[in-house]
Amino acid sequence: MRVAVIGAGIVGVTTAYELAADGHQVTVFERRGTVAAEASFANAGVVAPGYVTPWAAPGMPGKVLRMLLARHAPVRLRPTLDPATLGWLWRWWRACDPAVWRERRQAMLGLAQFSRARLHELVARLKLDYERRDGYLVLLRTAHDLKLARPGLKALADAGVRFHLVDAARCREIEPDLNPETPLHAGIHLADAEVGNCRQFAHLLRNEAQRAGVNFVFHTEVDRIEPGTRPRVVRRSVVVGEATRLSQADDLFDATRPLADDGADDSFDAVVICAALGATALLRPHGLRLPLQPVYGYSITAPLRQHHGHPDHGPQAALMDERYKVAISRIGNRVRVAGSAEIGGPAERMNPASLDTLYKVLHDWFPGAAHLSQMQRWKGARPMLPDGPPLLGASGLEGIWLNLGHGSSGWALSCGSARVLADVLGDRPAAVDLRGLTPARWR
Ligand SMILES: Cc1cc2nc3c(=O)[nH]c(=O)nc-3n(C[C@H](O)[C@H](O)[C@H](O)COP(=O)(O)OP(=O)(O)OC[C@H]3O[C@@H](n4cnc5c(N)ncnc54)[C@H](O)[C@@H]3O)c2cc1C
Repeated sequence: MRVAVIGAGIVGVTTAYELAADGHQVTVFERRGTVAAEASFANAGVVAPGYVTPWAAPGMPGKVLRMLLARHAPVRLRPTLDPATLGWLWRWWRACDPAVWRERRQAMLGLAQFSRARLHELVARLKLDYERRDGYLVLLRTAHDLKLARPGLKALADAGVRFHLVDAARCREIEPDLNPETPLHAGIHLADAEVGNCRQFAHLLRNEAQRAGVNFVFHTEVDRIEPGTRPRVVRRSVVVGEATRLSQADDLFDATRPLADDGADDSFDAVVICAALGATALLRPHGLRLPLQPVYGYSITAPLRQHHGHPDHGPQAALMDERYKVAISRIGNRVRVAGSAEIGGPAERMNPASLDTLYKVLHDWFPGAAHLSQMQRWKGARPMLPDGPPLLGASGLEGIWLNLGHGSSGWALSCGSARVLADVLGDRPAAVDLRGLTPARWR
């Protein structure tokens, strides 16, 4: 089949690769000059299936309201809330119902576990080096933090996720450079979880996809789709600025080389929308109003101080400061600190208070480990549906398929989502239970 993929974030790249591996002739349209230039650019890189869970959960509305008042609040509501955002918050609140949460959590966990297995298969087969490291340690500063984490531990155990509740001394063995002066009560260690450079993986897989025949058409915005037996994409050339907010040290790749267009024919046998937030404008004219909302987050990334070519101090793998919901990741010889969930407000404006929290957490746990003067800051938009899981499968519009809305876990879910999409498009059974994952739930 001739298949068009719209969007070349981590979801679009993995989807294009899997479709090409199945023998389809694939063209990817991307408005940026390269892959992984938007939400997949500088995320925390954590792949921890046990922690892939809906943000809409029982008791969450009360927790969020209390968080809003704190100085280093993990969640922030910006004052410019519009009707779409308020509608999304209403749906989110309704999705906090325990029965909805249980079903969605099960769906996300199943997909995340399959996704990690698929990631490992690809890495073993293609020998991809994307600064991967094993382990995820959730830091609990006080006995109260542990008490708050208990229900989550029960959910992990019930789901059969392997983890160890460890004391502070063991945490400091796992992560020997943790600041001894910052109080630490306990930790949750997931040895099976991992961290890696999502953007680098996307670039490496793009190369493999090209080798398999995928044609990437950059600087090309799809304005309109026309469903049908031969669905069409209507597109135009654009120059959208590269993601310059985090460029220097991360710029390993030639981002601007324009690639050949696929010719004049713009009709395909199938169109797969992997455009994250860009999907709403493409689907709305056809009566499909998806409740997709940007939930902004930030990351700061800096090189670790080196001694004889090796970092002196710093994290070994990935950590999560549970109090502030901030991740600390080792990405090669750099440290990345990521967090904050901001709803509303302009995409281009960085909120100094959110960045302050990231600096504070870095300083609390790894003071002096990084070259702060070389810090790169980034703001990204998580493409979030109110109830958690992404939308995977047939859209209900003829010839149009969806793989989008991966929220806070798009990297952890990408390889599995791509394989599932390729299977259902090829009329084969999916490797995971699709309940709670198909677009039908928001139609
Ligand atoms: C601070 C932060 C930390 C995070 N940490 C993690 C983590 O540790 N682990 C994890 O799994 N996830 C994490 N995430 C979430 C993850 O980054 C996202 O879920 C993921 O990147 C989404 O991938 P995507 O391909 O769907 O979207 P994107 O990467 O945004 O890709 C969509 C692409 O579509 C293109 N596009 C849109 N519309 C059009 C159009 N009309 N025509 C052509 N092109 C178009 C865009 O230019 C873009 O390149 C984090 C996110 C943030 C913000």
